[in-house]
Amino acid sequence: MNRAELVRQIRAIAQMEPGAPRRLQVEDPTLGPVVDALNEVLDAVRKERRLFQRDASVGRQVLEASTIGVVLVDREGNTTYVNPTARRMLRPRVEPEGRKPIEAFPIAELQETVTQALGGLEPEPVECNIGRVDIVITATGFPGGGAMASVRDVTADREAQRARTDFVANVSHELRTPVTAIMGYSETMLADRERIPDDLVRMLEKIDRNAKRLRDLFEDLLQLHRVESRRRELPLENHKLRPILEEAVIGAADQAVQSGRSFALTCGATLEARCNPEAVRTMVASLTSNAVNYTMEGGNIAVTATETPTEVVVSVVDDGIGIDPVHQQRIFERFYRVDDARSRALGGTGLGLALVKHLALASRSRISVESAVGKGSRFRIHLRKARR
Ligand code: ADP
Repeated sequence: MNRAELVRQIRAIAQMEPGAPRRLQVEDPTLGPVVDALNEVLDAVRKERRLFQRDASVGRQVLEASTIGVVLVDREGNTTYVNPTARRMLRPRVEPEGRKPIEAFPIAELQETVTQALGGLEPEPVECNIGRVDIVITATGFPGGGAMASVRDVTADREAQRARTDFVANVSHELRTPVTAIMGYSETMLADRERIPDDLVRMLEKIDRNAKRLRDLFEDLLQLHRVESRRRELPLENHKLRPILEEAVIGAADQAVQSGRSFALTCGATLEARCNPEAVRTMVASLTSNAVNYTMEGGNIAVTATETPTEVVVSVVDDGIGIDPVHQQRIFERFYRVDDARSRALGGTGLGLALVKHLALASRSRISVESAVGKGSRFRIHLRKARR
């Protein structure tokens, strides 16, 4: 057997080509030990290969049967595999394999998040809807190159959530009219307080105060519902921040100064962010109102906007009562209050930070908090940099 024939045989055995012999057969007795060693190596290679093929086929079967949609791309970003669930959910316009995801699926979010994962980032899950189906896409990069996007159908979860929040919104809406009527009557009667006995005035004032609380609660619930029930994110554009912040802090700055606290706003005149002005205004108004409410007389509140290499940050800082770490994540839940009596006494509805969190989600920004009891709190709104 010549050398070329020997090499061909070795390759055929190692790659398990159909018809290849199981072992090397060489007549030359001087090569006996070499051939035995080679056969051992080839046995090991074949075994590894069989195990790998079995694993790969199990992996493929799992992907084919998975109720989660899976799209795989190679290091160039070309699609290498789409499982049946993803095909059903995303309905490709053309055969996706060998193409960029966006060429087959008209879903910008899918392409964007896959590109980020390929670029070594760890993108947050993104939610979007195709037709009547709500999906969440999570993309992960592979260390050896390439990436995977998993796609979950969350329509049923979102429907249930919507039904719940729709109910709350309908109730709030229905109750707003009678509450407005109660407020109207109590205000009219109080305008004539000289003609009413003192104890009745006190009762009327209580009725008036509580009716206003209810009105604020219904207003906040309705606003929260409006933000939550949006199926699409809020539109973002480049905006100068200073005018937005100046408008947002008017109420809290007045309240601070009138109640003996200092208030400062620092924002460069040219600083821009890619943001939704309505969302920023509402978030900053809510955070600054809290900063004033949870700071003692003589305290200081500062709003500062700065640009970092990756984002634009609006900080709302106070040197007030602070928040214990055990409460820091929970304060964004609706009606979660660290000190129930204090918050109620201040007229808080317990919904302010829930609204801030949802506005951040809807406008692709993020909220973070740092705080120490007795020292004060720093809430940050992390906005996107302006697009040039
Ligand atoms: P509330 O209407 O009660 O202020 P929020 O949702 O705005 O409701 O805030 C939730 C809770 O978080 C508050 O009740 C308070 O305990 C705490 N909190 C919020 N902001 C601050 C702050 N700047 N300093 C200390 N505690 C705060």
